[in-house]
Amino acid sequence: MILTIIEQDKGKIVDPSLETLTLARKFAAENGIQTSAAIAGHQVRGLSDSLKNYGLAKVYLIENERFAKSAPDAIAKSLSQLIEKTSPTAVTAAGTERGNELMARITARLMQPMAANCVEVKVDGDGFRVTRQRWGGSLLEDAVLKGRFFTVAPHAAPAEPTPTASMEIEAFNPTLDEKDFRVQIGERIESERKGVSLMDAKVVIGGGRGVGSAEKFAMLEELAGLLHGAVGGSRVATNNGWRPHSDQIGQTGKQIAPDLYIACGISGAIQHIVGCKGSKRILVINSDADAPIFARADYGVIGDLHQIIPALIEEIRRAKGGK
Ligand SMILES: Cc1cc2nc3c(=O)[nH]c(=O)nc-3n(C[C@H](O)[C@H](O)[C@H](O)COP(=O)(O)OP(=O)(O)OC[C@H]3O[C@@H](n4cnc5c(N)ncnc54)[C@H](O)[C@@H]3O)c2cc1C
Repeated sequence: MILTIIEQDKGKIVDPSLETLTLARKFAAENGIQTSAAIAGHQVRGLSDSLKNYGLAKVYLIENERFAKSAPDAIAKSLSQLIEKTSPTAVTAAGTERGNELMARITARLMQPMAANCVEVKVDGDGFRVTRQRWGGSLLEDAVLKGRFFTVAPHAAPAEPTPTASMEIEAFNPTLDEKDFRVQIGERIESERKGVSLMDAKVVIGGGRGVGSAEKFAMLEELAGLLHGAVGGSRVATNNGWRPHSDQIGQTGKQIAPDLYIACGISGAIQHIVGCKGSKRILVINSDADAPIFARADYGVIGDLHQIIPALIEEIRRAKGGK
């Protein structure tokens, strides 16, 4: 049996979990084993309906009202107990931030190795041969995993439902105590972004150290408004508090794929590039002709962004008829 740990957010199963189930189903078919899943949360029985068409033989429900705000250590302990009881051949989860965190907690408890962000998994002797994404997807690594725990890189392959004859549901009751709830999410603050989101925008304007201050991001916002785009930033911009962390583009931020990325005052560190390399076109505005980001540019303007962006805004306004 392969066990997939399901992630849910605000009462909905996240897409990377459905993608993981699809990979798990194919793995199970190749190896002649069954697939099962586990959902831990508060009142999650209704969610099992969304899993009906993913070829699952069994779904384990671990319900606890104290999981409502997420309690990763308690959930990891519950899942570890389920794994010890059911002894699956392999255990997988989506390679999201939460999925990787949960799997790390589970494998630390069980003293087992894990491989994160896999795109392909094959049985290899008493372990697995995995291909996994490294460096935010800039390279693929082939590795041998002497263990049975792995996460699946989000969006590496689509979720493919399949008609399923029957799916058994079983409640699992773990043994938890008070200290398992030491780590809990206290509050969740949603981003206040208005307009098009960074992930959906067709045009993204990125600002780095060269922008100079939070106030100067106003001209990037103005340009984004004219192009129906969104504004993001490098880690320097978010670390300096010029932009919220949710606007960071890169390895430890968002990975964007707009039609056009306009990088302003950004040098082009690899950690930034892995976040924007999916862009169809990159326009660079930078005062240093030797800035590494020019190597990635489809179009480049060498100059001071504080002169170039206002000139661009003026020109776009003129082209739009002064609106
Ligand atoms: C583990 C790890 C994870 C990281 N994750 C990320 C990440 O997710 N995202 C990320 O962005 N970084 C990340 N970083 C940081 C990354 O290595 C770089 O330090 C960062 O991207 C640099 O930001 P920057 O380009 O804004 O600043 P700088 O490298 O300082 O570059 C500023 C650029 O602005 C130009 N400039 C200055 N003034 C002007 C002007 N007036 N007009 C035009 N151009 C001007 C300069 O020529 C220069 O090229 C990470 C680093 C580590 C170690």
